[in-house]
Amino acid sequence: MMDNIHKQILKKIKEFDTIVIARHIGPDPDAITSEVALRDIIKLNFPKKKVYAIGSGVSKFKCFGILDKISEDVSFNDALLIILDVPRFDRVDGPKKEEFKYTIKIDHHPCEEGVTDLELVDDTAASCTQMITDFVFDTKLKINKEIAENLYAGIVADSDRFLLSYTSPKTLYLAAMLMEKYKIDIMSVYNKLYERPIKERKFESFLISNLKVSKNGFGYIKITNSLIKEFDVDSSTASNMINDLNFIKELKCWAFSSYDDNSKIYKINIRSRNIPINQVAEKFNGGGHKFASGARLKDEESVDALFEALDNECEKYRDE
Ligand code: AMP
Repeated sequence: MMDNIHKQILKKIKEFDTIVIARHIGPDPDAITSEVALRDIIKLNFPKKKVYAIGSGVSKFKCFGILDKISEDVSFNDALLIILDVPRFDRVDGPKKEEFKYTIKIDHHPCEEGVTDLELVDDTAASCTQMITDFVFDTKLKINKEIAENLYAGIVADSDRFLLSYTSPKTLYLAAMLMEKYKIDIMSVYNKLYERPIKERKFESFLISNLKVSKNGFGYIKITNSLIKEFDVDSSTASNMINDLNFIKELKCWAFSSYDDNSKIYKINIRSRNIPINQVAEKFNGGGHKFASGARLKDEESVDALFEALDNECEKYRDE
């Protein structure tokens, strides 16, 4: 029998002629593939609907699909907004809740408050694409190979190739179903996700060589703009390298800070092994998952204070 929340989401999708899909600012592959896949699923099943996947584009993610631009004269008074992979509206890239007639959230971040009219939240899911895949199989909506490859890409990326602890039998089952039913070309997916220029690997080596590690097992580095220039890498690629430091024996928790000249804000990426860090991030106006969080800070003193708080957290777990 179809899951009740899936049934309600499908009903709302059927009800609206115009649907806008949005995701979090600073998108990663799971956020992008979620919105592109859901847009294409709705278009494939309901060709007459107007469906837009929006947000600022990221050139290296164009391979997953092109995002839509909405002209200013389009009104959303009668439209449905679906936000994906994002817990709260202050992290949504683009639209405002008040502009829409009805709002839905599909997300895997922990969040206690309700922010949309209808919510599908599962903080045990390894990715948002896993939740969309589950929705699609349960509702028996049609998909095709291209959509299946995007869903698979998001599942692989956000679980870090099934390495992270959120990976469950359901993650593997859904990935296997996509692979079996739609004959996914995994090498094409992995090339899109993982191929990169050697300068990025060199930068990664620099980060590991220059990482400071405290006696409590907290590793940190401040990525300056002059480093970004010197290695000729883009800053979002650099901060994503936080994921490449997993399984280093001496590290319990690790963090990067990078400075964004445009917004004049320090972006912090934090990861840990078995030490919950989202509540520490929340104290600094950030948030995220239990073992993968982030924050945006106004000054370097706050960066140092957050790093100190994370080091203290590591100390609590020092003997484990
Ligand atoms: P990132 O290191 O940018 O990949 O982010 C890791 C996780 O933390 C993601 O799930 C983000 O949604 C979340 N996150 C990052 N920055 C913030 C922030 N300023 N506020 C709340 N959550 C954040």
